[in-house]
Amino acid sequence: MDIVLMGVPGAGKGTQALKLEKALDFKHISTGDVLRKEIASGSELGEEIAAIIDNGDLIPDEMMLAILKKEVAQIKQSIIFDGFPRTTAQAQMLKEMLGSLGRKLGKAIAISLPEDVVVERLSSRKQCRLPDGSVKQIGPDFSLQDCQALEGEIFTRPDDTPEHVLHRLAVYHEQTEPIINFYQREGLYAEVNGEQSADQVFEELLAVLKA
Ligand code: AMP
Repeated sequence: MDIVLMGVPGAGKGTQALKLEKALDFKHISTGDVLRKEIASGSELGEEIAAIIDNGDLIPDEMMLAILKKEVAQIKQSIIFDGFPRTTAQAQMLKEMLGSLGRKLGKAIAISLPEDVVVERLSSRKQCRLPDGSVKQIGPDFSLQDCQALEGEIFTRPDDTPEHVLHRLAVYHEQTEPIINFYQREGLYAEVNGEQSADQVFEELLAVLKA
């Protein structure tokens, strides 16, 4: 069964998805990472995407779906969708796409977090670009020292500056929050408390998945 991880930017979706991937046989797809990979490839599509992301806006639904479909088609295991869907239209598209591939969504889980904590978390978060071009987030699993030891370059995501964070939160409330109603109607919605340690959030997630 596939799952969707939802939550405001900075709620810890990526961290929890990686934990689930390690603990259970899931494959993690972060649409943000997929888009950043496209940008790093230097393609024309990547340039178009960069202009939208750096502004903190959303990639148009049809473009996003086309990019995502290519990724999903290659995967056999259960998938954790992180960063998708972000609009109700995308939630509907996901349902149809999974159905057409003989897959099914089992749960849509939101990691909740108060807004002041989000702004503080995102504005202080740092990334590491490794010499092979891959990007890792600095955190409990990958420290600043790890980055330096591998001769990586430390940077802040352009969309993590305080003014972009506030805009992304506004986009989240306007476009992404309505998805909660969609998944409640589908009987798939669950919520975990993101204001605790990553391990505690993970325990709650596992309990929801077992329920
Ligand atoms: P994230 O890494 O999930 O915070 O995503 C970074 C940025 O990528 C977002 O602010 C959007 O500009 C874009 N993005 C990621 N996922 C989607 C999506 N499902 N639909 C539209 N844009 C997206």
